[in-house]
Amino acid sequence: MINLILFGPPGSGKGTQALKLVKKFKLVHISTGDLFRFNLKNNTPLGLEAKKYIDKGALVPDKVTINMLKAKVLENPKVKGFIFDGFPRTKKQASALDRFLKGMDSEVTKLIMLDVPDDELVRRLKERGKTSGRADDKSKKIILNRLATYKEETIPVFDHYIKKGKSIKVWGVGDLEMIYKRLCLEIKEAK
Ligand code: ADP
Repeated sequence: MINLILFGPPGSGKGTQALKLVKKFKLVHISTGDLFRFNLKNNTPLGLEAKKYIDKGALVPDKVTINMLKAKVLENPKVKGFIFDGFPRTKKQASALDRFLKGMDSEVTKLIMLDVPDDELVRRLKERGKTSGRADDKSKKIILNRLATYKEETIPVFDHYIKKGKSIKVWGVGDLEMIYKRLCLEIKEAK
C-alpha cells in the first residue's frame, strides 16, 4: 500500500494537487477538511461539533478527527493506497495514524510538504474567500489564526516524519503544472 501525506499550510494548494495526483496514481483521496465541510453542510452531529472549531480557525479535537479518518480508510478496503490531505495535523494524529496503518501491515510511505511563504498564503486565502463561500477564508483574523495553529501544532508532524527519513519539501509557488510535476517525481521515487 502507498500512503502519502500531502502536507502544508492552509492555502498551500494541497486540495488542488491532491485531485490531480489521485487520478494519476489511482489512490484514494481523503481530505479531513472536505469531510468536515460535508458534515457541516448536512448538519450532522459531527458537523455541528466541528463547526465550533472551524469557525475560529482552530483544530477540531484529535479524537473526533482520528475516528472520522479511520472510518473513512476502512470504507476503502483493497485499494492501492491513500493520499491524506490535511491529516495528520497534530503529533497525536500522526502517532494514531502510524499505529492504525501498522495494524493493517502498512505504514506512511512519504510526507510531502508544499512549501509556500506566509504572505503568499494570506493573499491566496483572501482571494479564495471571495468565491469559496468558506467562512474561514473570509476574515483576516481567522486566516492568521489558522497559520499560527499550523506553526504551533502542525509543523511538529513534519518533524515527526523527518526522524523517520520520510519528510520532504516541494516548492509550492509558481505554475500549477510545474508544481504537479515536482510532486509526481517525488511520488514516483517513493513507490
Ligand atoms: P485549510 O488547509 O485551508 O486550512 P482544510 O480544508 O484542510 O483547510 O481544513 C479546514 C478546517 O477543518 C481546519 O481549519 C480545521 O478546523 C479543520 N480540520 C481539517 N483537518 C483537520 C485535522 N486533521 N485535525 C483537526 N482539524 C482539522
